[in-house]
Amino acid sequence: MKIIYSDKHAGHDPQTFFVRGVKQRSTEQPERADRLLAAAKAAGHEILAPRPLGAAPAEAVHTPEYLDFLRTVSREWARLPNASAEVVPNVHPARYPATYPKALAGRAGWHQVDLACPIGPHTWDAALAASESAATAADMVLGGEREVYALCRPPGHHAYADMAGGFCFLNNTAIAAERLRATHDRVAILDVDVHHGNGTQGIFYERGDVLTVSIHADPDNYYPYFWGHAHEAGTGKGTGFNLNLPLPLGSPDAPWLQAGDRALARIREFAPAVLVVALGLDASESDPLQGLKVTGAGFHAMGSRIATLGLPTVLVQEGGYLSDDLGRNLAHFLAGFEAGRA
Ligand SMILES: [Zn+2]
Repeated sequence: MKIIYSDKHAGHDPQTFFVRGVKQRSTEQPERADRLLAAAKAAGHEILAPRPLGAAPAEAVHTPEYLDFLRTVSREWARLPNASAEVVPNVHPARYPATYPKALAGRAGWHQVDLACPIGPHTWDAALAASESAATAADMVLGGEREVYALCRPPGHHAYADMAGGFCFLNNTAIAAERLRATHDRVAILDVDVHHGNGTQGIFYERGDVLTVSIHADPDNYYPYFWGHAHEAGTGKGTGFNLNLPLPLGSPDAPWLQAGDRALARIREFAPAVLVVALGLDASESDPLQGLKVTGAGFHAMGSRIATLGLPTVLVQEGGYLSDDLGRNLAHFLAGFEAGRA
């Protein structure tokens, strides 16, 4: 399989993350991508650089003011007195009608929904390279490849059109889907990350041309808390085109794969021309975030079942954190996918 990867991700090394009020280093570390790349190479996959597409693919999904914020905020923040090394918000407009602010602290609160998406000097370059990787993979599938995997870091599926969150800045999965949508009438997204793909859901929530399906740990007691419930089904023209399949925390392979079968049935019914898989590996039993208990065999089986759809497919790396199984689980999923194609 062809794999798109940029080493620019490494410049983004977030140091700020809060767990139950305790500040610690982010679990979204550069070593994640190093391990995934090593596993992909060891499995014999072909590694290619993204095309220099710039911000155009991201502009198809994100708002101009948000992209301007991501591009410039780190430099401007550094000029403030006593500023931290990373941009972290301390105030949010929350749920009430609000006015877009001029001050940097206000803009940070507007565009960063939580404290898990600090912006450092190289965050923009890393996020942009990840979006170029996803867009390059989409272009290659449009060009006739059956499947291409974009090894994106930072991940993207928690990012909305104008809002970062949960380690995510540019929504690589949505960017790939929108790129495919320019050629195809119907595009489906299947998100198997342990967290609900709330940003992706938000971007396509009022649209019937992009089906969004997410399998994840129940947000009643898991990030992103406010989104990902079964009753969230889309609105307006998008009604019926968002499917959430939350699972009880700690669910093992069997219910995860059963949810996968429900997801695939809905995708078959939708009859898309092409598929994007938001490939989080953090549903692993070994993942430090401990949402679900999926084994290597489970990832292999999910890859195989998705492949039987027979659709041209863009695989986009989402979450999956440091454990001895991280690289192995990617190899299991990709091997399963290739087996399901055969
Ligand atoms: Zn995740």
